[in-house]
Parts: sequence; structure tokens; C-alpha cells
Amino acid sequence: MLRKIKRVVAGKKETDGAGVELTRVIGKPDVYDFDPFLMLDAFDHDDPGKYVKGFPWHPHRGIETVTYLIEGEVAHGDSLGNSGTITDGDCQWMTAGSGIIHQEMPQPQPKMLGVQLWVNLPSADKMTAPRYRDFTAADLPLVDNGDSAVRLIAGEFRGSKGPMEEITVRPTFIEVSLKAGGSFSFFSEPGDTLFIYIIRGSAVLEAYDDRVIEPRRAVLFTEGDELRVKAGPEDLLFLLFAGQPLGEPIAWGGPIVMNTKEELAEAFRELEEGTFIRKDQGPGGVAAGDVHRDFYR
Ligand code: MN
Repeated sequence: MLRKIKRVVAGKKETDGAGVELTRVIGKPDVYDFDPFLMLDAFDHDDPGKYVKGFPWHPHRGIETVTYLIEGEVAHGDSLGNSGTITDGDCQWMTAGSGIIHQEMPQPQPKMLGVQLWVNLPSADKMTAPRYRDFTAADLPLVDNGDSAVRLIAGEFRGSKGPMEEITVRPTFIEVSLKAGGSFSFFSEPGDTLFIYIIRGSAVLEAYDDRVIEPRRAVLFTEGDELRVKAGPEDLLFLLFAGQPLGEPIAWGGPIVMNTKEELAEAFRELEEGTFIRKDQGPGGVAAGDVHRDFYR
């Protein structure tokens, strides 16, 4: 059964962190439709002034974040003591689990084009130990079929596997390039949540009366086992995300996403009291006075 269009979402321009302009493609009002995905932020900037203030030290609990850069450079540091810089085609994956304090600082470059995805943690794993990994473009397998090329970040496609295998809900995250007029088919579990985000070019959804979807839109699909996408008159670049819904209650307070209001209140109380980071998990050089609690990401 072919998946059909459920929603087309343009998102909203927002400013987050210390003053970073971004498009919040999906966010708080969309969480039950996009479960297990909580948030997708997109960046597309030619002017470093729109992002260099970055996201200095801030906490997270209860989620995993995936940053994928098509172009640009982002430096990361966290309370576990990890630090790293990702650049064109690289990605970062962070499990906040019981608590992490980190900073994500985009560096001035001619272009910054990328996304950050928030993946929810199931209630049983929300307080798991925090972890961080980064992968370079060379770590991401490319499945090239002539008029389509698929870059795997997480999940499987035609026998290849993305390197981000430890994300708890085991989602699929792939980047699909289609030459003008090319077509692409993707098979998945019928009940998985599946959406695409169009970076460049327009997508023609041929199974849906050739409906044309503009770039910088997310399309959420209904249940089904097959998705078909065709490129319009220009080359098409889009990201595809799929995962099994958790079906759990969501209590979301800025950078912290739990299941109940009580768990949220506890997290903010621990931030006040300085017990948010577990004893063996930091602080990795983060001074408590430098922590911002009012950012989302
Ligand atoms: Mn963050």
C-alpha cells in the first residue's frame, strides 16, 4: 500500500540559543503526529551573523539529538568532556539521557546548511547514561543507483547500514539525491511514522495526482509500506526520517522532554540545586553559572 500525504508543513522562523536564526520545521505542536520525532530545525544561511552566537552551554534530558551538516562547521563540547567539530557532510549524535550540558557553536563559513533532529527516548531509557559520537562524511555509506544516490546516516537501505546504530528507537535517517525527473521508492514498516524534508528542488508525489511540493517543506505521510517520490525539473535533495511511534505521554519544558510534569519539575529543581548531572558524568569543565536554561536546543 502506498503512503499518502498526511500533512505538509512549512515550519516557522524562530531565533533560539544566543541569537541563531533557524526554521523550526516541526516542534511542540506537532509531536503526537511525528512521534517518535520531537523537533526538526533547519539552517540555510549565507550570512554568519545569523548563527555565530550559537548555542552556548545548556542542558538536555530525556532525548537524543542528531545534527547533520550538508555544508558548514559546528564545534561541540559537553559535560562528559567530549569535544569535536563537524563539517561538510558530517554528523553528530548525542544521547542526553539522564542529563548533559553541552554547547553547539556554528563557525563562520560561506554557507551553513543543515538540520538538527530531536528523537524522543522511551520512558524506560530517559534516564540512561549520556553519550556522544560524531561521524565524518566518509563514515556514511552512499548507495548510488545512477539517477538516485542515498547517503545513510541511520537505518538500512538496500543492504547498506548507517553508522548511527545506537539511537534507542532505531530510526531511519537518509539523505536522498535525485537527478531531475528521477524517481525513488522506499519500503518500510507500514505503521512507522515517515516524513521527508526537502532541501533543494521540488518533489513530485506521483501517487498523489502529481502534487508538487516546494523546497523547505516537510511532508508527513500516512501509514503504508511504500513511499514514491519523483524529482521535478531540477535536481532534488531531501532527507527522509522514519521510526516506530512510542505512543507515550510527552511533558516538554524547553530543552528537557519527559513523560510527566513531575519529572520535568524534578529536572528543573536538580538544575537549581546543581545535581542535574550525575556524579560520574561530568561536569567536564562546565561552570554552573554559565548554563542557560531558556534555550530549546
Ligand atoms: Mn542542545
